[in-house]
Amino acid sequence: MNFDRHSFHAFILQNDLQYSVEFVASRTTFYCIFNKTPHSTLPYLSLTQYELQTFTEKRETSWAFTPYGGGDVDGPSNGAAPLPWDVEAHPAHLFHDEVKVVQVPHTASVKECHRCKGTGSLQCSECHGKGWTRCLSCHGDGWYTDSSGYKERCFYCQSSTHGHGRQDCLKCNAKGRVACPPCDSYGQIRCFIRLTITWKVNTSEHIVRKGGLPEALVKEVSGQVAFEEEGTRIFPLTQFPDNTINLASAQLVNNHKNAFHDERTYAQRHQVRIVPVAEVEYGFKGGPGKFWVYGYENKVHSPDYPHTCCWGCCCVM
Ligand SMILES: [Zn+2]
Ligand SMILES: [Zn+2]
Ligand SMILES: [Zn+2]
Repeated sequence: MNFDRHSFHAFILQNDLQYSVEFVASRTTFYCIFNKTPHSTLPYLSLTQYELQTFTEKRETSWAFTPYGGGDVDGPSNGAAPLPWDVEAHPAHLFHDEVKVVQVPHTASVKECHRCKGTGSLQCSECHGKGWTRCLSCHGDGWYTDSSGYKERCFYCQSSTHGHGRQDCLKCNAKGRVACPPCDSYGQIRCFIRLTITWKVNTSEHIVRKGGLPEALVKEVSGQVAFEEEGTRIFPLTQFPDNTINLASAQLVNNHKNAFHDERTYAQRHQVRIVPVAEVEYGFKGGPGKFWVYGYENKVHSPDYPHTCCWGCCCVM
């Protein structure tokens, strides 16, 4: 190892994998080169990740309505309404979260609006149906009196629809009633059964970890896919060379089998990924330190790196 004032360079060659780690930092005083390959001091680890995904579908029904201003209504006269699981619907993509809302066929009917009782309007809450509010300028008097005792019509309410001393209600335009929102003033609504279909990706994983690289970091990088399988329903792995993966697969597949009570399993897939990791130990002024180069992206995790504020984790090469 050598140290210099302006850069940090590590060159790692191990098991056919070659990493060149280089930091060029103007304010750091750290420089180290690993060249050639002292295998014993640069352990190459591989991290195995097993991931199981179950793509589930959930169907929920509820009553819904929209304003009805005329037009066709798909009611029971068109046929029997299908059960929720008999309604034809498919996700746009497998293994993507999605929500679809559809109307269950033959469930619609037209009803009088429950809010306005079919009138299409509601009493104005601002003026309580009167169409006016007391004029605040003249306190309802209709006249304005100046300091010398001269009286004249109040400027603010002199042309009011409902007479002097009263101001037109702005909310209802002096009518006393406002449009009914549920029926959009039609007085009628179209009721139907709404079906909400939710497709969701449920992911579980197990990482066989060697060394001290934090697990969360492994998920961010890519590695080699050693095995993958997809189907309507998959069975646990039994023949993978690392038996820990077989055991994890059996447990996670079984967990997923019992986890989604009111949902239907639409599809399942699982994958084994091997992520390359090199763990490097070094010595520096403050004592020993350690960093990791991991994933095909050659990311570096270096929590002990001197002046680590902006170099704790970065990408190289
Ligand atoms: Zn209404
Ligand atoms: Zn009003
Ligand atoms: Zn007034």
